[in-house]
Amino acid sequence: MKKSYKIEVDCANCANKMEIAANKTEGVKSAAVNFMALKMNVEFEDGYEPKAVMGEILKRCRKVEPDCEIFF
Ligand SMILES: [Zn+2]
Repeated sequence: MKKSYKIEVDCANCANKMEIAANKTEGVKSAAVNFMALKMNVEFEDGYEPKAVMGEILKRCRKVEPDCEIFF
């Protein structure tokens, strides 16, 4: 399953850090952040609940960039 989420982040460098953090999260097959569009596209592994995975992604992203936001 693939979903697209709106994000808030201050610069391309932090967007890149968010992408790396998202890709390390359990249940994520692949994640890509588009800073220009302020979007995060996530492909989930089968059997994972997107909302739960997104909660974990946000937690990890906040560790590398405390001011970021993901709307899910
Ligand atoms: Zn930044």
